[in-house]
Amino acid sequence: MHTFLNYYDGRDVAALSGGVFETINPTTGQPWGIFALSAAADVDAAARAADLAFNGEWGRISHTRRGRLLMQLGDRIWENAERLAALDTAQNGKIYVEVVAQIKAMRDWMYYYGGLADKIEGAVIPLDQTSVLNYTLREALGVVGVIVPWNSPIFLTVMSIAPALAAGNTVIIKPSEVTSASAIELAKLAIEAGLPKGVLNVLTGLREAGEALVAHPAVQKICFTGSDAAGRAIAARAGERLVSCTLELGGKSPNIFFEDIDLDQAETGVLAGIFAATGQTCIAGSRAYVHTSIYEALVERVVKRARAIRVGDPMASHTQMGPVSTEAQLRKDETMVQRAIDDGAELLCGGDRVTVPGCEGGFFYQPTILQNSAPSSELMQQEVFGPVLAITPFSDEDDIVAMANGTIYGLGAGIWTRDIKRAHQLARRIKAGTVWINTYRAMNYASPFGGMKASGIGRQNGIEAINQYLQTKSVWCELGETIADPFIMKV
Ligand code: NAD
Repeated sequence: MHTFLNYYDGRDVAALSGGVFETINPTTGQPWGIFALSAAADVDAAARAADLAFNGEWGRISHTRRGRLLMQLGDRIWENAERLAALDTAQNGKIYVEVVAQIKAMRDWMYYYGGLADKIEGAVIPLDQTSVLNYTLREALGVVGVIVPWNSPIFLTVMSIAPALAAGNTVIIKPSEVTSASAIELAKLAIEAGLPKGVLNVLTGLREAGEALVAHPAVQKICFTGSDAAGRAIAARAGERLVSCTLELGGKSPNIFFEDIDLDQAETGVLAGIFAATGQTCIAGSRAYVHTSIYEALVERVVKRARAIRVGDPMASHTQMGPVSTEAQLRKDETMVQRAIDDGAELLCGGDRVTVPGCEGGFFYQPTILQNSAPSSELMQQEVFGPVLAITPFSDEDDIVAMANGTIYGLGAGIWTRDIKRAHQLARRIKAGTVWINTYRAMNYASPFGGMKASGIGRQNGIEAINQYLQTKSVWCELGETIADPFIMKV
């Protein structure tokens, strides 16, 4: 068993209650780690450390130096990618080679936001009153609470902390209770990289720890990535304190294939949309819509490929799909597939657990494809967050726009066609924060990412993200000698 404590104020600290919780390795089904069970008192102690750092050394450091330190943290992440990836894979079963690649890419995120740290500029406002000097300051908020899910722990954590730290804030991370280890190691790497203690802190725990973080008066902003149900609860709680939230929530993303697309490309597009990361990505293309003229041919190909996917140990280089991350998620996958069948859907492949030799206790599930689901059915409306695809034919462009937009979500969408005019026209009509044309699941630190409708509020990545961790102060200075009438507002 691996044992971890909370990490704040530059040191390991046990939960003040002495409480702990256990995590499971989904590949084996066996216990893997023991973590501190944080509660309100732990949040209070970490928040005091983070507040002290914000008002102390971190607040005084030059913008350029702050940026350099973030770049150094990027280097430490890159150097430790294999070690961090092994921790994540042991807890969520995501394929090790993909996790290593994702974590290595996080150096670019730290460089990008490190580079932005000394480019945060206010403005001089050109007023009509020439005797007045009015300018703006762009100021950090204070302590930011970052709450993340289990599917891509380091990736989603760095996406959140990089702009928050670059803007000059300090951070408390509450990782998912499923995957807590890598965030603790990340905070230790931050100290190694030269960030002052108290700048990057980690509290592990269950939902209650997240709730206490959202409720703490020192926390000035919440960046939450997770389910829309938790997002709503967090936004309501933060709203009571009038604290703003960036919310990156779930999706039910449409992946649309027109008749003019090459079938090899379409086949890869469907698979990449849904079975990568065992379907446990917020941007999973979980609703594939295929033009009737190629429907049968593409379905036949995709089902054949899905049946051949190598499900197994995520540490093995030949594995294409690892286990589902938790037993609860496995049961959810099974239940939603059964309900879809009961609702009239036809199971084309999958729908069962897989026994992997050597990993008999693991939470493995077959790549699963269903057709004939009604647009209003649970499978077409609710996120499964597993390797479960609903595939549907379409023939009319207006119909496909209505179907694509016909859920509460609006995170991602894929459009596959050689007709470039049609692609760009559709991109405007689809209500999603990201639209991919002839590709899927592409992401970059420079390109804004986030959801429309119930998929979220605010954007991560790009210059837009750093603005969400800053507030604007307007400074007025009268330069003239005239005494103003005290009873009339200056407009
Ligand atoms: P979850 O919402 O159950 O939990 C996420 C985190 O929030 C965990 O750390 C959890 O402890 C905490 N939490 C839960 N309820 C809370 C509350 N009321 N107050 C404070 N903290 C609370 O999500 P999950 O099951 O860990 O992850 C899967 C979900 O995350 C899916 O819906 C997926 O689409 C979404 N997700 C979204 C993105 C994105 O960028 N849009 C990325 C990855 C995952």
